[in-house]
Amino acid sequence: MEKSIFQRIIDREIPSQIVYEDEQFIAIRDIAPKAPVHLLLIPKRFSSRLDEISDAQHMGELFLTANKVAREHLTDYRLVVNVGAGGGQVVFHTHVHIMGGWEEKSEAE
Ligand code: 5GP
Repeated sequence: MEKSIFQRIIDREIPSQIVYEDEQFIAIRDIAPKAPVHLLLIPKRFSSRLDEISDAQHMGELFLTANKVAREHLTDYRLVVNVGAGGGQVVFHTHVHIMGGWEEKSEAE
């Protein structure tokens, strides 16, 4: 199976602005931001879409990590997951959009 673009980012085959990484997840800046702060949290364990994840611990850790990463950059934010082409998903490697900064005076880097 061909690697997803996010797998290639995880494997450092293509560059990205990494803002967070641990054993399970990587968070990068979206290449085409739709918010003043637009990050993508990507699990290293591959699933093509959120509804493929049946492991409750993995699902929990995904959202716990999304909150942790979001709070490093933002006070208030939006978490978005597009599921399937009809739901707006373009990259079929599960990811959580972390978006915010519309009201923020400055971003805590
Ligand atoms: P989706 O529509 O699948 O939920 O969102 C995919 C997101 O990935 C889009 O917001 C798009 O801008 C972002 N994206 C696509 N290719 C790349 C890339 O090569 N690098 C980064 N940093 N973001 C990407």
